[in-house]
Amino acid sequence: MKPIKILHLYPDRMNIYGDFGNIISLTNRMEWRKVSFEYHTSSIGNKLSLDYDLIFMGGGQDKGQIAVAKDLQTKSSVLHDHLMRDVPILTICGAYQLFGKYFITAEGNEIPGIGLFNVVTKATEYRMIGNIVISNDIFGEMVGFENHSGETELLHGASPLGRVIKGYGNTKTSNYEGVIEKNAIGTYLH
Ligand code: GLN
Repeated sequence: MKPIKILHLYPDRMNIYGDFGNIISLTNRMEWRKVSFEYHTSSIGNKLSLDYDLIFMGGGQDKGQIAVAKDLQTKSSVLHDHLMRDVPILTICGAYQLFGKYFITAEGNEIPGIGLFNVVTKATEYRMIGNIVISNDIFGEMVGFENHSGETELLHGASPLGRVIKGYGNTKTSNYEGVIEKNAIGTYLH
């Protein structure tokens, strides 16, 4: 079997609240099952190849998002191509926001996203912090930790990842969390 090619975007810039743990969990499970894989990373200035089997990007502070946003635009068409080929993509918090249409920071700066998710995000005065539990019809209950000032609105046709059981999620009041588009997930669950 060909090795599974994992792409980790901006591990040097977008990796807060232990998001690298997703890679550790994934690669350990593959090793335990003797499934061969290749772990690839790509950061600012690195070109992407065309055929990854799984893509991951973790969260980051506003300054990390500003640092990677321009470069992410150069990777946009390859990432959209992977989405259209049903390649699994997991983006967390700051990455989720940058895979939407834009993120407006607390200072009012609009950081353009790549529009892979039909969502928009606006920073608020209030940080949504704490443990979070959501329920999804396919994956069941999902537990995580959230820490974000951004409120994310799902635009027409965008489907939430789950219903909030405990915590905030996309906004303080929407009772929904994250987004799922084909095999791509955006979520606030670290
Ligand atoms: N800077 C973004 C916010 O505060 C994302 C934070 C994160 O990735 N945890 O909403």
